Amino acid sequence: MEIVLTGTGSPLPDPHRAGPSTLVKVGDTHILVDAGRGTVMRLAAAGSLPAFLAAVLVTHLHSDHICALNDVITTHWVMTRAAVPLRVVGPVGTARFVERQLAALEDDIGYRIAHHRELERGPWVEVTELEPGESLEVGGVAVTTAATEHAPVRPTIGFRLEHEGVGAALVGDTLPCPGVDRLAAGADAYVQTVIRRDLVEASPIEMMRDILDYHSGVVDAARTAARVGARRLVLTHLVPAPPPGEYEDWRALAAAHFDGEIVVGDDLTTITL
Ligand SMILES: [Zn+2]
Ligand SMILES: [Zn+2]
Repeated sequence: MEIVLTGTGSPLPDPHRAGPSTLVKVGDTHILVDAGRGTVMRLAAAGSLPAFLAAVLVTHLHSDHICALNDVITTHWVMTRAAVPLRVVGPVGTARFVERQLAALEDDIGYRIAHHRELERGPWVEVTELEPGESLEVGGVAVTTAATEHAPVRPTIGFRLEHEGVGAALVGDTLPCPGVDRLAAGADAYVQTVIRRDLVEASPIEMMRDILDYHSGVVDAARTAARVGARRLVLTHLVPAPPPGEYEDWRALAAAHFDGEIVVGDDLTTITL
């Protein structure tokens, strides 16, 4: 199993960080978790494409995690000519979001069908909405879910992907909670979106400080990783994004609470399990 961080950014625009998304490759099975800003460009750099995706898993409907879904849908559509469906899996509300994306794309869909003889129909998207705790299989990869805690965003779900005894937890934006503990228990990699509480607390911007009550800090993530016996902690969605000289500070904060391997993610950082 290979995990490629296809976007380690956040809502804050950053020339070096695409919005949150993570690609998991198991052989030819490519699974994307979330689709933030610039996801399709990063997929291309990671040796993937929307047409290769066995599924897109959505953790929650915050815009930074799904704003590139229309790009994924459109690119999948024109490259497959809608011969195969794009499978999108997410919490309740995902189907409505996809329907509205398709409605917004209606003019474009009409133009392309009118222009390309080979394009006979619009995008084919198959949405599966999951309740927390439900599971499914994607291309031989077992996917389990659990509720996460990101109120007032509801529902939110995290994922665990398992294949031949290797497990990765990709839990999205969440406070530490029992669902995350279940998904990350004994995982070979626990990928957590994080903020630096100390830096965010010091922000003069109230809307910035608002994010403190629904995200895991670096220390929270490290404590979770240690508590549940994860082997690696992968930090992504870094807020505020560290300049080059500060990665060691992030790592040290986590290392004070967790003995395993710690990865402070950059776009296209790849973890092989
Ligand atoms: Zn969020
Ligand atoms: Zn987010």
